[in-house]
Amino acid sequence: MTDLAARLADVDARLAAAAREAGRDPADITRIVVTKFHPASLVRELHGLGVRDVGENRQQELTAKADDCADLDGVRWHFIGQLQSKKAAAVRRAATVVHSVDRPKVADALHAAGEELPVLDVLMQVNLTDDPGRGGVAPEGIESLAEHILGLDSLRLRGVMAVAPLGEPPAEAFERLAGYADRVYRMSPQATWLSAGMTGDFAEAIAVGATHLRIGTAITGARPDRA
Ligand SMILES: *Cc1c(COP(=O)(O)O)cnc(C)c1O
Repeated sequence: MTDLAARLADVDARLAAAAREAGRDPADITRIVVTKFHPASLVRELHGLGVRDVGENRQQELTAKADDCADLDGVRWHFIGQLQSKKAAAVRRAATVVHSVDRPKVADALHAAGEELPVLDVLMQVNLTDDPGRGGVAPEGIESLAEHILGLDSLRLRGVMAVAPLGEPPAEAFERLAGYADRVYRMSPQATWLSAGMTGDFAEAIAVGATHLRIGTAITGARPDRA
C-alpha cells in the first residue's frame, strides 16, 4: 500500500468511526479530497484509489487540473475558495459544485455564465467569525442571499458551508452552523447539504450533521509551497 492509500484508508476509518458515534451512516457523508497546490498527477493517483470528489480553491488551478484530468471518469470538482465574479464563468465551466457563494453578485455571475449548462449545485458560505474580512455571508444575511439564489434558475441551492474559526472550539461553531443549515432547509427542501470539517475538525463536523467534508493534508500529506 502506498503512503497515500494508507492515509486515505486511515481517514476513511476515522470518518466511519465518527459517523457511528453520531448514529449516522458513513455512506451519507461525501469525503472531498482537497488537492490544492498539488499537481494533477495526485488527482490521477487518488482517482486510481477510487476518489471521485476533489476540492480546489483557486480558479486557475481548478481549470488547469480539470483540463489535465478530463480523461478520468466521474470526477466531481468542488470549488471551495473565495470566488470573484470575474472568475465565475471559468469556475462554472470546470466545477460540479461551488461551495463558496457569499454574495448576490457572485451568484448572478455564476448564473449568467451557465444558462446553457446543466444546473449547478451551490452552497452559501457562512462567516462564523466576527471579522467581516473573512469569506462568507454574515449570519443575518443568510435568508436574503438564499432568496436571491433561489430566484436564479440555473443554480440549485443545496445548503451551507463554513470553515471553523480560530480561537473557538470547532464543535461550538459547527453547532451554530447546523442552525443556519436548518434555516436554509426551511426555505428550500433541496438544501440538505452541510459542508464542514477539515483535517483538524472533521469528527466534530460529523457530530453536527456535516454531509460534505473537505479534507486536505490528512490525506495528501503536507502541501507544497504555494506557487
Ligand atoms: C484547504 C482547505 C481545506 C482543507 O484543509 P486541510 O486542513 O488541509 O484539511 C478545507 N476547506 C477549505 C475552504 C480549504 O481552503
